[in-house]
Amino acid sequence: MEERRNSQTLIYRTDPNLELEEKLRRLAFVRHPSIQNDHDSVIADYRPIAKRRMESITFDELTEEEIVEQLSKHYKGIISNLGEDPARQGLLRTPERAAKAIMFFTKGYKEKIEDVLNDAVFDEDHDEMVIVKDIEMFSLCEHHLVPFMGKVSIGYLPNKRILGLSKLARIVEIYSRRLQVQERLTKQIAVAITEAVQPTGVGVVVEATHMCMVMRGVQKLNSKTVTSTMLGVLREDPKSREEFLTLMNNR
Ligand SMILES: [Zn+2]
Repeated sequence: MEERRNSQTLIYRTDPNLELEEKLRRLAFVRHPSIQNDHDSVIADYRPIAKRRMESITFDELTEEEIVEQLSKHYKGIISNLGEDPARQGLLRTPERAAKAIMFFTKGYKEKIEDVLNDAVFDEDHDEMVIVKDIEMFSLCEHHLVPFMGKVSIGYLPNKRILGLSKLARIVEIYSRRLQVQERLTKQIAVAITEAVQPTGVGVVVEATHMCMVMRGVQKLNSKTVTSTMLGVLREDPKSREEFLTLMNNR
Protein backbone atom coordinates (compact mmCIF):
# COMPACT_ATOMS: atom_id res chain seq x y z
CA MET A 1 0.00 0.00 0.00
CA GLU A 2 2.66 2.48 1.12
CA GLU A 3 4.85 1.51 -1.79
CA ARG A 4 2.16 1.94 -4.34
CA ARG A 5 1.52 5.44 -3.00
CA ASN A 6 5.16 6.38 -2.94
CA SER A 7 5.74 5.21 -6.46
CA GLN A 8 2.65 6.85 -7.92
CA THR A 9 3.16 9.81 -10.16
CA LEU A 10 1.79 12.95 -8.62
CA ILE A 11 -1.02 14.44 -10.62
CA TYR A 12 -1.30 18.12 -10.08
CA ARG A 13 -4.22 20.46 -10.11
CA THR A 14 -5.06 22.13 -13.38
CA ASP A 15 -3.13 25.36 -13.88
CA PRO A 16 -5.58 27.94 -12.49
CA ASN A 17 -4.58 30.43 -15.18
CA LEU A 18 -5.67 28.03 -17.92
CA GLU A 19 -8.94 27.36 -16.16
CA LEU A 20 -9.57 31.07 -15.75
CA GLU A 21 -8.68 31.83 -19.33
CA GLU A 22 -11.15 29.24 -20.53
CA LYS A 23 -13.91 30.68 -18.37
CA LEU A 24 -13.23 34.24 -19.47
CA ARG A 25 -13.28 33.13 -23.07
CA ARG A 26 -16.60 31.41 -22.56
CA LEU A 27 -18.03 34.48 -20.86
CA ALA A 28 -16.94 36.63 -23.76
CA PHE A 29 -19.48 34.81 -25.92
CA VAL A 30 -22.34 35.53 -23.57
CA ARG A 31 -22.57 39.21 -24.18
CA HIS A 32 -25.09 41.69 -23.10
CA PRO A 33 -27.08 42.84 -26.16
CA SER A 34 -26.20 46.48 -25.47
CA ILE A 35 -22.49 45.81 -25.61
CA GLN A 36 -20.79 46.92 -28.79
CA ASN A 37 -17.12 46.80 -27.94
CA ASP A 38 -14.89 43.84 -28.35
CA HIS A 39 -14.06 41.65 -25.41
CA ASP A 40 -10.88 40.39 -27.00
CA SER A 41 -8.67 42.70 -24.98
CA VAL A 42 -9.63 40.89 -21.78
CA ILE A 43 -9.03 37.53 -23.28
CA ALA A 44 -5.83 38.29 -25.13
CA ASP A 45 -3.76 38.68 -21.95
CA TYR A 46 -4.29 35.02 -21.19
CA ARG A 47 -3.77 33.47 -24.58
CA PRO A 48 -0.01 32.89 -24.45
CA ILE A 49 -0.17 30.60 -21.43
CA ALA A 50 -2.92 28.41 -22.82
CA LYS A 51 -0.52 25.84 -24.15
CA ARG A 52 -0.69 22.80 -22.01
CA ARG A 53 -3.58 21.03 -20.41
CA MET A 54 -3.11 19.00 -17.27
CA GLU A 55 -5.41 16.49 -15.66
CA SER A 56 -7.08 17.97 -12.66
CA ILE A 57 -6.32 16.89 -9.17
CA THR A 58 -6.14 14.78 -6.90
CA PHE A 59 -4.39 14.03 -3.69
CA ASP A 60 -7.53 12.25 -2.57
CA GLU A 61 -5.59 9.07 -2.20
CA LEU A 62 -3.84 10.54 0.79
CA THR A 63 -5.83 11.14 3.94
CA GLU A 64 -5.58 14.48 5.70
CA GLU A 65 -3.39 12.89 8.41
CA GLU A 66 -1.06 11.50 5.78
CA ILE A 67 -0.70 14.88 4.13
CA VAL A 68 0.05 16.53 7.49
CA GLU A 69 2.63 13.82 8.15
CA GLN A 70 4.32 14.43 4.79
CA LEU A 71 4.28 18.19 5.22
CA SER A 72 5.71 17.85 8.75
CA LYS A 73 8.70 15.97 7.36
CA HIS A 74 9.34 18.77 4.89
CA TYR A 75 9.07 21.44 7.56
CA LYS A 76 11.47 19.49 9.76
CA GLY A 77 13.90 19.57 6.85
CA ILE A 78 13.41 23.30 6.44
CA ILE A 79 14.12 23.88 10.13
CA SER A 80 17.36 21.93 10.03
CA ASN A 81 18.39 23.55 6.76
CA LEU A 82 18.07 26.85 8.57
CA GLY A 83 20.67 25.56 11.03
CA GLU A 84 18.22 25.06 13.88
CA ASP A 85 17.85 21.88 15.84
CA PRO A 86 14.41 20.42 15.12
CA ALA A 87 14.77 18.33 18.27
CA ARG A 88 15.04 21.23 20.67
CA GLN A 89 12.05 21.68 22.89
CA GLY A 90 10.54 24.80 21.36
CA LEU A 91 10.70 23.34 17.86
CA LEU A 92 9.67 19.80 18.64
CA ARG A 93 6.09 20.13 17.50
CA THR A 94 6.65 23.02 15.09
CA PRO A 95 6.72 20.92 11.90
CA GLU A 96 3.31 19.51 12.69
CA ARG A 97 1.89 22.90 13.67
CA ALA A 98 3.29 24.48 10.51
CA ALA A 99 1.84 21.67 8.42
CA LYS A 100 -1.61 22.17 9.92
CA ALA A 101 -1.31 25.93 9.48
CA ILE A 102 -0.49 25.72 5.78
CA MET A 103 -3.31 23.23 5.31
CA PHE A 104 -5.64 25.85 6.75
CA PHE A 105 -4.15 28.63 4.63
CA THR A 106 -4.88 26.58 1.52
CA LYS A 107 -8.19 25.04 2.50
CA GLY A 108 -9.88 26.71 -0.45
CA TYR A 109 -8.66 23.84 -2.64
CA LYS A 110 -11.05 21.49 -0.89
CA GLU A 111 -14.10 23.64 -1.40
CA LYS A 112 -16.23 23.90 -4.48
CA ILE A 113 -18.06 27.04 -5.51
CA GLU A 114 -21.07 24.98 -6.58
CA ASP A 115 -21.46 23.47 -3.10
CA VAL A 116 -21.27 26.85 -1.45
CA LEU A 117 -23.77 28.49 -3.77
CA ASN A 118 -26.21 25.66 -3.48
CA ASP A 119 -29.58 27.13 -2.41
CA ALA A 120 -28.17 30.66 -2.35
CA VAL A 121 -29.23 31.85 -5.79
CA PHE A 122 -32.60 33.58 -5.73
CA ASP A 123 -34.93 34.84 -8.43
CA GLU A 124 -35.54 38.48 -7.75
CA ASP A 125 -36.68 41.31 -9.90
CA HIS A 126 -34.01 43.65 -8.65
CA ASP A 127 -31.86 45.46 -11.15
CA GLU A 128 -30.04 48.00 -9.00
CA MET A 129 -26.39 47.61 -8.16
CA VAL A 130 -25.60 45.34 -5.20
CA ILE A 131 -22.38 46.23 -3.41
CA VAL A 132 -20.56 44.50 -0.58
CA LYS A 133 -17.52 46.36 0.59
CA ASP A 134 -14.41 45.51 2.60
CA ILE A 135 -14.64 41.73 2.80
CA GLU A 136 -11.52 40.65 4.69
CA MET A 137 -9.15 38.48 2.75
CA PHE A 138 -6.06 36.45 3.68
CA SER A 139 -4.08 34.67 1.03
CA LEU A 140 -0.66 33.20 0.26
CA CYS A 141 1.50 34.68 -2.47
CA GLU A 142 2.42 31.85 -4.82
CA HIS A 143 5.83 33.35 -5.59
CA HIS A 144 7.16 33.44 -2.04
CA LEU A 145 4.64 31.44 0.01
CA VAL A 146 4.19 34.37 2.37
CA PRO A 147 0.87 36.01 3.16
CA PHE A 148 -0.83 38.87 1.47
CA MET A 149 -3.96 40.28 3.01
CA GLY A 150 -6.45 43.02 2.51
CA LYS A 151 -9.98 43.79 1.50
CA VAL A 152 -12.22 42.82 -1.35
CA SER A 153 -15.15 44.89 -2.55
CA ILE A 154 -17.67 43.43 -4.92
CA GLY A 155 -20.48 44.99 -6.90
CA TYR A 156 -22.83 43.49 -9.43
CA LEU A 157 -25.86 44.46 -11.45
CA PRO A 158 -28.38 41.65 -11.11
CA ASN A 159 -30.27 40.28 -14.04
CA LYS A 160 -33.31 38.60 -12.45
CA ARG A 161 -31.12 36.59 -10.09
CA ILE A 162 -29.33 37.53 -6.91
CA LEU A 163 -26.86 35.81 -4.66
CA GLY A 164 -27.21 35.46 -0.88
CA LEU A 165 -24.99 38.24 0.46
CA SER A 166 -22.90 36.05 2.75
CA LYS A 167 -21.99 33.98 -0.29
CA LEU A 168 -19.89 36.75 -1.74
CA ALA A 169 -17.62 36.47 1.28
CA ARG A 170 -17.55 32.69 0.88
CA ILE A 171 -16.43 33.02 -2.73
CA VAL A 172 -13.62 35.32 -1.58
CA GLU A 173 -12.64 32.76 1.06
CA ILE A 174 -12.54 29.85 -1.37
CA TYR A 175 -10.27 31.58 -3.85
CA SER A 176 -8.05 33.40 -1.36
CA ARG A 177 -7.24 30.28 0.65
CA ARG A 178 -4.94 28.98 -2.06
CA LEU A 179 -1.57 29.78 -3.53
CA GLN A 180 -2.45 32.97 -5.33
CA VAL A 181 -1.51 36.09 -7.17
CA GLN A 182 -3.73 39.07 -6.49
CA GLU A 183 -4.57 39.64 -10.15
CA ARG A 184 -5.88 36.12 -10.63
CA LEU A 185 -7.78 36.16 -7.35
CA THR A 186 -9.59 39.30 -8.48
CA LYS A 187 -10.58 37.76 -11.82
CA GLN A 188 -11.61 34.43 -10.30
CA ILE A 189 -14.04 36.14 -7.92
CA ALA A 190 -15.58 38.14 -10.78
CA VAL A 191 -15.92 35.06 -12.97
CA ALA A 192 -17.46 32.98 -10.16
CA ILE A 193 -20.16 35.59 -9.57
CA THR A 194 -20.82 35.89 -13.29
CA GLU A 195 -21.20 32.14 -13.60
CA ALA A 196 -23.45 31.92 -10.56
CA VAL A 197 -26.06 34.55 -11.39
CA GLN A 198 -25.29 35.79 -14.92
CA PRO A 199 -25.52 39.43 -13.87
CA THR A 200 -25.50 42.32 -16.31
CA GLY A 201 -22.16 43.37 -14.92
CA VAL A 202 -19.65 42.60 -12.16
CA GLY A 203 -16.90 44.67 -10.59
CA VAL A 204 -14.33 43.41 -8.10
CA VAL A 205 -11.69 45.55 -6.42
CA VAL A 206 -8.97 44.01 -4.24
CA GLU A 207 -6.68 46.12 -2.08
CA ALA A 208 -3.90 44.17 -0.40
CA THR A 209 -0.60 44.36 1.42
CA HIS A 210 1.98 41.79 0.42
CA MET A 211 4.33 40.54 3.12
CA CYS A 212 6.86 39.71 0.42
CA MET A 213 7.07 43.44 -0.24
CA VAL A 214 6.78 44.60 3.35
CA MET A 215 9.19 42.14 5.00
CA ARG A 216 11.78 41.74 2.28
CA GLY A 217 12.94 43.35 -0.93
CA VAL A 218 11.75 46.91 -1.14
CA GLN A 219 10.35 46.93 2.43
CA LYS A 220 7.62 49.40 1.71
CA LEU A 221 5.61 49.25 4.90
CA ASN A 222 2.51 51.01 3.74
CA SER A 223 2.39 50.07 0.11
CA LYS A 224 -0.89 48.62 -1.09
CA THR A 225 -1.59 46.86 -4.31
CA VAL A 226 -4.96 47.51 -5.90
CA THR A 227 -6.36 45.29 -8.63
CA SER A 228 -9.75 45.34 -10.29
CA THR A 229 -11.77 43.30 -12.73
CA MET A 230 -14.84 44.61 -14.50
CA LEU A 231 -17.04 42.36 -16.59
CA GLY A 232 -20.18 42.99 -18.65
CA VAL A 233 -21.64 46.48 -18.58
CA LEU A 234 -19.25 47.55 -15.84
CA ARG A 235 -16.50 46.98 -18.32
CA GLU A 236 -18.22 48.33 -21.39
CA ASP A 237 -20.37 51.16 -20.15
CA PRO A 238 -18.52 54.12 -18.56
CA LYS A 239 -21.67 55.32 -16.77
CA SER A 240 -22.28 52.01 -14.98
CA ARG A 241 -18.61 51.80 -14.10
CA GLU A 242 -18.72 55.30 -12.71
CA GLU A 243 -21.73 54.43 -10.56
CA PHE A 244 -19.92 51.38 -9.26
CA LEU A 245 -16.77 53.30 -8.40
CA THR A 246 -18.71 56.11 -6.75
CA LEU A 247 -20.63 53.66 -4.54
CA MET A 248 -17.37 51.90 -3.75
CA ASN A 249 -15.62 55.05 -2.63
CA ASN A 250 -18.62 56.20 -0.67
CA ARG A 251 -17.40 55.44 2.84
ZN1 LIG B 1 5.34 37.38 -3.19
